[in-house]
Amino acid sequence: MVPYDRVRWNGAVGHFLCAGVAATERRPRVRAVTNASIAKNSVVTLHYKLTLDDGSIADSSFGGDPLAYLHGHGNLVPGLERQLAGKKAGDKFDAVVPPAEGYGEFDPAGEQTLPRSAFPPDVDIQAGMGFHTEDDHGNPIPLWVKAVDAAKKQITITSNHPLAGQRLNFTIEVVSIRSATKEELSHGHVHGPGGHHH
Ligand SMILES: [Zn+2]
Repeated sequence: MVPYDRVRWNGAVGHFLCAGVAATERRPRVRAVTNASIAKNSVVTLHYKLTLDDGSIADSSFGGDPLAYLHGHGNLVPGLERQLAGKKAGDKFDAVVPPAEGYGEFDPAGEQTLPRSAFPPDVDIQAGMGFHTEDDHGNPIPLWVKAVDAAKKQITITSNHPLAGQRLNFTIEVVSIRSATKEELSHGHVHGPGGHHH
């Protein structure tokens, strides 16, 4: 088990596809690229709809702002990123991603109950919230609150992503493709609209 004694507030779990952190806005220089196909270091904007096998829609960007991501840097689940490679702006397609290439198989051993004192004192902890802890090398490990007891003294956490064990059925529409800036490459994520603001 990972050490859960250093649990930190991670904001809302937020995006199913990409964990962004909002701060101050800073717009990148946008380079237009025509006729490009998605390859490593492409900045891609896309619309997506994620449907689960029971027919429920887990998430969708259609009707809102498209998602921006940096291709080839592990910012999307691997099975979706793989199927986006080579696509062009305007392409629409369906991508089916099995759990092993999505949010992982469900691990029944990945649950643990912790005292409330292991968590930040100023956060009203509720089921579904995301936190992170760290491994011995300081790498963040995501975890989620599964349940809180009535007295709010015992918190059950899980290392399973809320969509672990689920097959992911994506409907994708690629909106735009450009090259990443040097700054984006050094950070490993997109800056500006649809990406990180900091
Ligand atoms: Zn950045």
